[in-house]
Amino acid sequence: MTMAKKYDYLVVGAGLFGATFAYEAKKRGRDCLVIDKRNHIAGNIYTKEEEGINVHIYGAHIFHTSNREIWDYINQFAEFNNYINSPVAVYKDELYNLPFNMNTFSKMWNIKTPAEARAKIDEQIAQLNITDPKNLEEQALSLAGRDVYEKLIKGYTEKQWGRDCKDLPAFIIKRLPFRFIYDNNYFNDRFQGIPMGGYTQIIEKMLEGIDVRTSEDFYDLRKTAVKDADGTYTARLSDGAEVSYDRILFTGQIDEYFDSKFGPLEYRSVRFETETLDMENYQGNAVVNYTEREVPYTRIIEHKHFEFGKQPKTIISREYSTEWKPGIEPYYPVNNDRNNALYEKYAREAAAEGDVIFGGRLGQYKYYDMDKDLAAALDCVNEEFGE
Ligand code: UDP
Repeated sequence: MTMAKKYDYLVVGAGLFGATFAYEAKKRGRDCLVIDKRNHIAGNIYTKEEEGINVHIYGAHIFHTSNREIWDYINQFAEFNNYINSPVAVYKDELYNLPFNMNTFSKMWNIKTPAEARAKIDEQIAQLNITDPKNLEEQALSLAGRDVYEKLIKGYTEKQWGRDCKDLPAFIIKRLPFRFIYDNNYFNDRFQGIPMGGYTQIIEKMLEGIDVRTSEDFYDLRKTAVKDADGTYTARLSDGAEVSYDRILFTGQIDEYFDSKFGPLEYRSVRFETETLDMENYQGNAVVNYTEREVPYTRIIEHKHFEFGKQPKTIISREYSTEWKPGIEPYYPVNNDRNNALYEKYAREAAAEGDVIFGGRLGQYKYYDMDKDLAAALDCVNEEFGE
């Protein structure tokens, strides 16, 4: 009989959260086995080189943060370029700069000064009588007025979330800057860039010297798991090898972990239609949003522009937002009141689960950007091992 290989942690999910945890655990002398159901590491930040271009397979990822510690941390694993995200929005035959700034307002109303823009917006807001915005629609209207809302927010948001703007939380729109200067930088953060050579290398470096199994399903493994009197689990991997571990870091969907016993949480998913085109430059920008309801996709990403690529060909992805259902990849938690309340039930269950830690966008059911996910992973490390 062969002895089961012994680990301190089973890390479920080889994305940014799981890999950060495993990397920090290893530094502290703990052994992790990292498993992922996909056939590759890096979760949704996975990038793959095609035609010399790093393709963001699961959608555009732009690293941005105001936290110097987080910026320094991620820079250990890759060198970042000076990419600044400046998407443009297409509405019918009109084209606007994002986020909402003087370039947008100038184009919308043929005005020049901040005072003129402010007057135009104030005039539109005055007609609304919204004192305390209760949902995304009221928030957007009372921030930007009717024109910006109708042309640049309403259609895009309803496609992205598959819900009426009245049924969405206001915070989603507060992510975007709104400013009265001519500045198309999508983020307000101090630090921003794309890792030269893609994101996968970051996770590869984090996982160096750590046992990783891809195409390994946690739920199949769990069926074989037996807990002994000391609290150690022994389970069987898909190739029959036995492993044992004391604790689990779980970065999958928290509701699924508990067999959705309180009912399923909602997620949004994205379907990509990716094409290689025999031309150098298709749209002149990495990100072009299509804000009208009638265009079925939300945006087109032209991957080469994240790294200022000069390859002879180009690769574009059209993004179609869909409701998540079992069997497809979840991308975004839908953090409305109903789901948040349901999540709280699962979170209480999770807290009672002594030997399992839940992390990441899916495990903590939070619309984390990469910097927040990384910060949450480091918090989790501190909690687990002490500072
Ligand atoms: N949004 C919008 N119009 C746009 C881009 C974004 O109304 O052209 C809104 C929309 O509600 C979206 C939110 O802003 O869900 C956040 O956008 P962000 O670009 O941060 O989304 P992500 O990149 O995370 O998908």
